[in-house]
Amino acid sequence: MLLNTYARFDVKFVKGINATLFDEKREKYIDFTSGIGVVSVGHGNERLANAICEQAKNIIHISNIYRIPTQEKLAEILVSHYGNGGVFFANSGAEANETALKIARKYGEINGKPKKYKIITLENSFHGRTISTLKATGQPKFHQYFGPFPDGFDYAKNINDIYSKIDDKTVAVMIELIQGEGGVNPFDKDEIKNLANELKKRDILLIVDEVQTGIYRTGEFYASNLYGITPDIITLAKGLGGGVPIGAVVTRLTDVLKPGDHGSTFGGNYLSTRAGIEVCDILKEEKKSGKLDETVKYFEDKLVEIAKEFPDIFDEVSGYGLMRALKTHKSEIRDEIVKKSFENRLLVLKAGTHSVRFLPPLTISKEEIDEGFEKFKEVLIKL
Ligand SMILES: *Cc1c(COP(=O)(O)O)cnc(C)c1O
Repeated sequence: MLLNTYARFDVKFVKGINATLFDEKREKYIDFTSGIGVVSVGHGNERLANAICEQAKNIIHISNIYRIPTQEKLAEILVSHYGNGGVFFANSGAEANETALKIARKYGEINGKPKKYKIITLENSFHGRTISTLKATGQPKFHQYFGPFPDGFDYAKNINDIYSKIDDKTVAVMIELIQGEGGVNPFDKDEIKNLANELKKRDILLIVDEVQTGIYRTGEFYASNLYGITPDIITLAKGLGGGVPIGAVVTRLTDVLKPGDHGSTFGGNYLSTRAGIEVCDILKEEKKSGKLDETVKYFEDKLVEIAKEFPDIFDEVSGYGLMRALKTHKSEIRDEIVKKSFENRLLVLKAGTHSVRFLPPLTISKEEIDEGFEKFKEVLIKL
């Protein structure tokens, strides 16, 4: 048996084609979740499958004590959208964030006189499930068990409140630009730019958790590109491997960690980094051809139309790119919508207390979008 860690829907999917899934009875579903922003190039993507297959027939894994060409190539791609910097590969978002925290802590230990170690995060954030990323997560419900937690975290209510939390022990601020699990809440671009400038002046690191927003999810390679900032550290995971587990840290701080300070057995192996290269290549073409921007616009128009058509249910449309939400007036109706959508064979997600969240594959077709929103409307009409 499995441990009881998930409230699962009773369904077994056996086949996937782009944003379409089939269960064991061959019932068809439209997938507006892509495994919580993971299957960025769609289910059963042939190019990705072939790349993984060819790689698996050659070398899946060696060890990070040897050079790994696919890892070096993927690092180059990630850095090319960032500026000058280096990359560390892990296996998940939480691990990428752990790495960022370690870089920040060591930076504060070397450069702070006296040592700086405090990390400020935001209320309503989400940074992962390990002991320290749980502590970094600014939601009390995540701190109910599992203590004692590591010290040195403090929470700001919003971007402007960060300034009042800074003291001479503060080494870094870690934020999402669009809070994902928190409800799909984008921060104001000017506020973020000012924050980045202010932190730079005070020699405090800016860590941007792009585990959910990274790799074209918002329409740009990084959400940081969309916001016009270059953080000291960016963390990635979800969409990067198209479903193959991978996490990454991109940073200008290339000489803080030394051999022995940090590592990972699986992180950045041939299989996951080969997958990452293919995902980045596929999505680069989608972006360059204008197709991704078209899809974003098409999806957004549908959401705006629905918000207008059902003003008694929905408050507003939020998010960027294909990281979107419809905010409901009441949280009970939100839960009802997600449940009824599933029963109508449409997969959508919850986020925060009031958001129906949409994270479709970035390659979703217009036909799939049409079909998904038809199903969605059927649910709304019957509420
Ligand atoms: C999903 C998520 C994480 C955690 O990633 P895991 O791969 O589940 O460890 C961290 N930060 C953000 C913003 C996320 O959306």
